[in-house]
Amino acid sequence: MRSLICLGGPGSGKGTQCAKIVEAFGFTHLSAGELLRREIYSNSKKGEMIRDTIKEGKIVPSDVTVSLIKREIQASENDKFLIDGFPRSEDNRVAFEHIIGAEPELVLFLECPEEEMIRRVLNRNQGRIDDNIETIEKRLKVFNKLNFPVINYYDAKGKLRKISAVGTIEEVFEKIKPQFSAYKET
Ligand code: UDP
Ligand code: MG
Repeated sequence: MRSLICLGGPGSGKGTQCAKIVEAFGFTHLSAGELLRREIYSNSKKGEMIRDTIKEGKIVPSDVTVSLIKREIQASENDKFLIDGFPRSEDNRVAFEHIIGAEPELVLFLECPEEEMIRRVLNRNQGRIDDNIETIEKRLKVFNKLNFPVINYYDAKGKLRKISAVGTIEEVFEKIKPQFSAYKET
């Protein structure tokens, strides 16, 4: 199993750019946030806890998110995955590496100014319970406090590729593409 990771704050464009990357390079896209949102609507016991956690902008317990990711990996015939928006904390990272038994080959970090992230989230109109100014402010705090240690960890390992997420979708993707030169276009 080979994995790549895409990190960035709320509204930095992870979902949009990951969709383009998987199309170009043949990975399977696993968005941790999407998997959690799907779980809310599946009537599972954990759904209510996940909804409350997302509404508060907090991080769902690692074992829950990792088992959703693991289930997708096991159900897939692909062996290359692009994981979007996870790990969000050192606890997430350790649980992932322990349970999945693999380290990512490369970590893309979409760097975006906070004002721009807030603007994009408030404009995206996807009906998400966490796309309101109160929750966004909490999510930005959680991102700065808990996700940066993960980003720094991968940076120290030489795996981090930092890209400015400012610009049009195409402009940003053109900056991302060369980072994937080791992977064949499909
Ligand atoms: N979330 C989480 N763990 C994850 C991914 C997401 O707890 O590994 C929760 C968290 O509350 C986060 C929300 O889901 O604020 C939305 O995450 P998503 O990645 O969809 O949002 P984005 O950052 O793309 O706007
Ligand atoms: Mg997303």
